[in-house]
Amino acid sequence: MYEVYSEPPGDQPATAAHKPGVKPAGLVLNKGQRGQNYDGAVVRNGDVSYWWHARGGFPPRRPSLPGPAEADVCIVGAGFTGLWTAWYLKRAEPGLRVVVLEAAFAGFGASGRNGGWVMAALPGSRERYARGPRGRAGVLDMQRQLQRTVDEIGAFCQAEGIDAHYVKGGSLSVATTVAQRERLRETVRADRAWGLDEADVRYLEPAELEERILIPNGHGGTYTPHCARVQPARLVAGLAAAAERAGVQIYEATPVTAIEPRRACTVFGDVTAKHVLRATEGFTARLPGLRRELLPVNSSMIVTEPLGDDVWRDIGWSGFETLGDEAHVYIYAQRTADGRIAIGGRGVPYRFGSGVDHRGTTQPETARALARSLRALLPQVGPARTEHAWCGVLGAPRDWCATVTLDETTGLGWAGGYTGHGVAASNLAGRTLADLVLGHATPRTELPWVFHRARRWEPEPARWLSVRGLYSAYRLADRLEGSPSGRTSLIARAADIIAGSP
Ligand SMILES: Cc1cc2nc3c(=O)[nH]c(=O)nc-3n(C[C@H](O)[C@H](O)[C@H](O)COP(=O)(O)OP(=O)(O)OC[C@H]3O[C@@H](n4cnc5c(N)ncnc54)[C@H](O)[C@@H]3O)c2cc1C
Repeated sequence: MYEVYSEPPGDQPATAAHKPGVKPAGLVLNKGQRGQNYDGAVVRNGDVSYWWHARGGFPPRRPSLPGPAEADVCIVGAGFTGLWTAWYLKRAEPGLRVVVLEAAFAGFGASGRNGGWVMAALPGSRERYARGPRGRAGVLDMQRQLQRTVDEIGAFCQAEGIDAHYVKGGSLSVATTVAQRERLRETVRADRAWGLDEADVRYLEPAELEERILIPNGHGGTYTPHCARVQPARLVAGLAAAAERAGVQIYEATPVTAIEPRRACTVFGDVTAKHVLRATEGFTARLPGLRRELLPVNSSMIVTEPLGDDVWRDIGWSGFETLGDEAHVYIYAQRTADGRIAIGGRGVPYRFGSGVDHRGTTQPETARALARSLRALLPQVGPARTEHAWCGVLGAPRDWCATVTLDETTGLGWAGGYTGHGVAASNLAGRTLADLVLGHATPRTELPWVFHRARRWEPEPARWLSVRGLYSAYRLADRLEGSPSGRTSLIARAADIIAGSP
């Protein structure tokens, strides 16, 4: 069952006086910088996420649903999807009665735990979306709308006075093996074929990469300007407050036990509404009848202690780009506003029976593995402590493509399945769901993810065995690609086909 957290986290945010780093002409690592002194210990594990700690704690708890109620629109789940939908609905029609029911508190899920990449990457396969009626044109349209969404979120923060540490520095993807470099080149070629140009994404030779960040083992990279970095808990807390100011009623500690046509059931009573919208992403499998809709994929993160000026000088990264690699079991990272590195990746990707974590606690071995990955990429961090480790679940549909949908005959709608690309996508999805509810035909309602349907996941134990098998194959492929062959491992290609990737 859902737990309700009322206790504030113990620590106040650590602050670090640091200047953006300046890349040195050459880098010679001393013994400590190579990480030999790093002991692998984690200061804090779980407690939802570092982001809530750094924000100074959880917001005061909102009341639970007081009893049976009526609304025009009832939204289940107060993450980005539910809150953006509510906010855009109220902005378009201030008189609408919009109620959000949240099992724990607003931002408890992935929205308050993620890597803070507000990215324009498509949540799913282009090839699959292109099978829709608008074909490839629809895919490019979706890509462009997602790019504008990155700015929409920045503009929203500014207009609503939300300091979410939004910096639009773009995103770097780096190659640390020859095989990864070739994959990055392939990615850029594919992007060109789909209509993206040099202003959208470009390949960086190792020397160009070094101008942005010093990855000692960097074989090259790509850069796209269409990404911003945020502190996710600040964004989701600010969004919830903005929605309330707009007149949205949010009830917390109110788990919905069943969703029926025009009705959301809770132990406090039911909410009846013309439209009931599900915004439960990675938690969806816990609702009756929805066990096999979205796979709760687990992702874990760690954050270092604040790094000193000398370390930042050795790293560079003064542009605050988000940073990822091109491994099959990839990592994603950001430079935080308080001078740390937050880095994430998959540990245990999936728990048997679509289980979810407890309070964001991750496996200690996963935290250690992420710390090793960080040092492999950026040995300059040296013995810096891991101050916090946590995890969360995101929702993956069987075909890895997201959906925004509404059935007017039942009044039921939902959006999600962003497969780890949900921070910007949930904003576009929320605007689109609002359009569908209001019956507005807009360029958004023409996008290929609208009314998209994926088949369901296999029952257990096939689901657990196949996900486990896939991730073992990807890990093995990464190890094999460490050799100088320069080719993407055939094991990874086979795993892609089994997983349903294009
Ligand atoms: C560790 C991690 C890192 C990530 N990094 C990135 C990133 O850098 N960039 C990116 O684009 N995406 C990232 N993602 C994915 C992204 O965070 C999600 O796609 C996005 O936040 C989904 O938002 P949501 O509102 O749909 O779901 P959630 O934020 O998970 O919200 C769902 C809400 O529904 C509530 N709920 C569930 N069931 C019920 C119920 N029965 N009754 C009432 N309430 C219920 C939950 O408590 C929760 O608050 C990451 C995800 C994780 C876990």
